[in-house]
Amino acid sequence: VTKGFRAAKNRLAGKSELTPELVDESLRDIRVSLLEADVAFDVVKKFVARVREKAVGELVQTTITDASGQKRKVSPMDHFIKICHDELEALMGPVDTGLNLKPKGQLSGIMMVGLQGSGKTTTTGKLANRLLQQGRKPLLVAADIYRPAAVDQLKVLGERLKVPVYHEPGVQPPELAKRGYAAAREQKCDVVLIDTAGRLAIDEALMSELESIKSNVHPDNILLVCDAMIGQDAVRTAAEFDRRLTLDGFILTKLDGDARGGAALSIKEVTGKPIKFLGMGESMDKLEEFRPEGLAGRILGFGDIVGLMKDFEKVVDEKKAEEDARKLLSGQFSMKDFVEQIRMVRKMGPLKDLLEKFPLFGEMTEHLNPDEKELTKIESMYDSMTVKERLRPDLINASRVNRIAKGSGRKPEDVRELLQKFGMMQQVMGTIGQNPGLLGRIPGFK
Ligand code: GDP
Ligand code: MG
Repeated sequence: VTKGFRAAKNRLAGKSELTPELVDESLRDIRVSLLEADVAFDVVKKFVARVREKAVGELVQTTITDASGQKRKVSPMDHFIKICHDELEALMGPVDTGLNLKPKGQLSGIMMVGLQGSGKTTTTGKLANRLLQQGRKPLLVAADIYRPAAVDQLKVLGERLKVPVYHEPGVQPPELAKRGYAAAREQKCDVVLIDTAGRLAIDEALMSELESIKSNVHPDNILLVCDAMIGQDAVRTAAEFDRRLTLDGFILTKLDGDARGGAALSIKEVTGKPIKFLGMGESMDKLEEFRPEGLAGRILGFGDIVGLMKDFEKVVDEKKAEEDARKLLSGQFSMKDFVEQIRMVRKMGPLKDLLEKFPLFGEMTEHLNPDEKELTKIESMYDSMTVKERLRPDLINASRVNRIAKGSGRKPEDVRELLQKFGMMQQVMGTIGQNPGLLGRIPGFK
C-alpha cells in the first residue's frame, strides 16, 4: 500500500541536496501514495502544489526544530518528509475536538447522522461512554425505526453502559427526538444523543426526515459518522449531509482496519468541518480524539509512532516507555529486549493492532508472524538461552544453536529462524531510528 511513499524515500535516501527535479520525482511517488490512501484528487493536487512550493523554496534549510524545541541537522529526505507531514497536518487542522455542550446540569443535544453501517449506533454508545467518564448524564434516543434490530442494538449498548435509552414504538423519528428530550429532562439527564436511521446511499426521504428532527429539537451538535473504508465516496456523502444539515464535525470510524484514512483529509477539505473523533474498534472504549499528527503519519504510510508510544505507556510507566522507544529505535536492543517487548505487547492486546499502526512492520509481518503459537515457541527458546546469549545473540554459534534447540525441545532451524527475525527487527528499528524527523515527534525524545 505504501509503495509510493516508500519509493519517494528510497529516491531521496543518501541524497545531499533537494533539487527541484528530485522534489518533482518524489512528489509523483507521494501522489500515488495519497490517491491509494483515498485522498480526493483535488486535495492531492493542492497538497502536491503546496509541498513543491515549500520544498523548492527552502532548499538551503538544513536544520529543523523538533518537538522538544531543539535544532537538529536534517538530510534532504527528512526535510522532504517533514514538509509533507506538516502540510498534511495543516490540511487536517485546525484541531477542534470539542463538543458544543452547555454546563453540566443543563440539557445539550447531539444528533448522529450517516449512511447505514457507518457506525452511528456504535459511535453513539462510545460517545455516551466518554460523556459518562466526564461526569455527564447521557440519555440515548433510538430514532432508527426502520430496522427493529437497530432499537435493540442501542438498548443493549445502553444496558451495558447503564445509560437510559428512550424509544416508543410507532412514533415517527422527529417526534421521538422531541419526546426524548422531555424524557431526558424528566430523568435529570444532561446530554441527549439521538441515533438516527441511515440508508445505503443518500436519499431524499432520509434527508428530509433528518431535517425535521433538526428543526424539532435544534441539537447543539450534528455529527456525521463516516466509514473510513468507503474511501472517496465519503467525500460526496459528507458534502451532501453538510449541505442539508450544516454539520458541526465528523467522526471517522473503522480506522482499526486497513483504511489509511485519506477520507478524513478529503472530508475536512471539502466541508471545512473539523474531524472530532476516530473510531478504532468495535468496543465502547475505542474512540479516540482526533490528532492530526497521527493521521498524517498513517496517510503517508510511516506509521503512528506517537500512538504506538501511547500504547506502550498504558502498560509500562512513561519513563520506561521512553527508554524502550529509545532502545528500540536505536537498533541497539538485545534478544532480551526483543522478547520483553513481545511480552509487553501481548499485554496490550493483539499484536496486529500494533503492527497496523506501524506500516514499516508491514514488510516483515509475513516473516515475523507472532501469533500465540509462535510466541510460545519464541519464549521457550529464549528461556533456554543463557543470560549472556540473550544480551549478545551474535555470540550464538552452531553448538550454542544446538544446545538451545535441545533445551527448548525445538529444532536448530527454529533457533536460527528466531535469530534471523531478531536481526531483521533490529535492522528495521534502526532504520526508523535514523530518521530524526520521526524521532522528534515522540514526546520527550532527544
Ligand atoms: P450504523 O448502521 O451506522 O448504526 O452502524 P453500526 O453502529 O451498527 O455499525 C456497523 C458495524 O460496524 C457494526 O458491526 C459495528 O460493530 C462496526 N463498527 C462500528 N464502528 C467501528 C470501528 O470503529 N471499528 C470497527 N472495526 N468496527 C466498527
Ligand atoms: Mg444504527
